[in-house]
Amino acid sequence: MSEKKLRVAILGCTGSIGKQALDVCRQHPKRVEVVALSAHSSTTALVEAAREFGVRHVGVADEEHAHDSVLDELPSGCELHIGERACADLGGLEEVDCVVLAVVGFAGIDAALVSVRAGKTVAYANKESIVCGGELLMPMLRPGQLVPVDSEHSAIFQCLVGERHPEVSRLWLTCSGGPFYGWSKERLLEVTASDALAHPTWSMGTKITIDCATLMNKGLEVLEAHHLFDVDIDDIRVLVHRQSRIHSMVEFVDGSVKAQLGPSDMRIAIQYGMSYPQRWSAPCERVDWCLEPSLTFGEADENTFGCLRLAREAGKTGGTLPCAMNAANEVANAAFRRNACGFVDIERIVARVMEQTAVERVDSLQQLRDCDAQARELARKALVEVLE
Ligand code: NDP
Ligand code: MG
Repeated sequence: MSEKKLRVAILGCTGSIGKQALDVCRQHPKRVEVVALSAHSSTTALVEAAREFGVRHVGVADEEHAHDSVLDELPSGCELHIGERACADLGGLEEVDCVVLAVVGFAGIDAALVSVRAGKTVAYANKESIVCGGELLMPMLRPGQLVPVDSEHSAIFQCLVGERHPEVSRLWLTCSGGPFYGWSKERLLEVTASDALAHPTWSMGTKITIDCATLMNKGLEVLEAHHLFDVDIDDIRVLVHRQSRIHSMVEFVDGSVKAQLGPSDMRIAIQYGMSYPQRWSAPCERVDWCLEPSLTFGEADENTFGCLRLAREAGKTGGTLPCAMNAANEVANAAFRRNACGFVDIERIVARVMEQTAVERVDSLQQLRDCDAQARELARKALVEVLE
């Protein structure tokens, strides 16, 4: 193999997607060189990965961890970047070709914009920043610069290779249904954080696992697809498919439907984010389709799982409303994880913040930052109110 190695930065390397991205790099040492890694506060895991891959730059976003003694064990010559700007600094490094954006939440938006502006290709997992900042981000991209890592969007991206945009009529986003599929609203009142953290098919970070249980994850994904593929919210259908074999589908104007199928393993989508437009050998076990039980389909219940409906509404209104909705969800999701509110309160808090948000057209990152901060404040107040 004579091609130059792809020089990769993995932002959020200590999380679920980040660790799987490291695994992909481990399997393709002749193709990939890891040059930069970041974490928020997990400095021990960060240093371990930095030593394994001999990286030249690491970032620690949480300043409180700037002096962790483990950082003394970084490889010699490795440069340490500290603070809120650390991820963005790594994303803009001259010696990086491809950024794996695996930070969770709105916090990933600076790194996203800096990486794109610096011309890097981005294997993009951080859906929250697309939902909030899609209007800013999408016009900056050259074709193929952003390759989605979210499994549904990776599937759609793959189905669209060689197709023409005007010939797309609908997107079908598949959805496992989450651990409470088929439950009633009354039954959801009893759900605890540990019930919600047990996802039926995917093993993921805690924030997204709760989002999968409320179906807010699917709501965020509808908005993510709307931005990435320039398709109206009403033409993006959610399809409950419990087996998570079909990762999503595209329907064309002639009625043909293309789907992408495969193992329920995020490493395939992460790897494609790095390898596109090529394909590299499989990073995980394949599926023997002869042994597969039947594949089933159903409709999502937006009445019981109201976060999906709220996200659609936010997407249709547009402007800064998705940003406010996302911030409210981040606050409520975190509160639920620390047992500070109930499962159904997440939806109530998000709804309340959406009602109280004055929607503006998106025109700058600073405006989104302000909107995010304001919505977090409203969500903290709503959290107190729903518990009264
Ligand atoms: P995790 O919570 O497992 O990991 C998040 C990573 O981001 C960690 O490395 C964490 O560091 C870092 N991080 C957290 N907060 C900040 C911050 N404020 N600034 C900088 N870095 C930060 O999340 P996941 O890996 O599950 O998800 C990452 C993204 O990918 C999310 O947007 C999610 O929606 C998306 N995604 C995830 C999927 C999955 O299977 N997990 C599937 C599809 C999409 P530290 O460890 O130090 O806290
Ligand atoms: Mg997904």
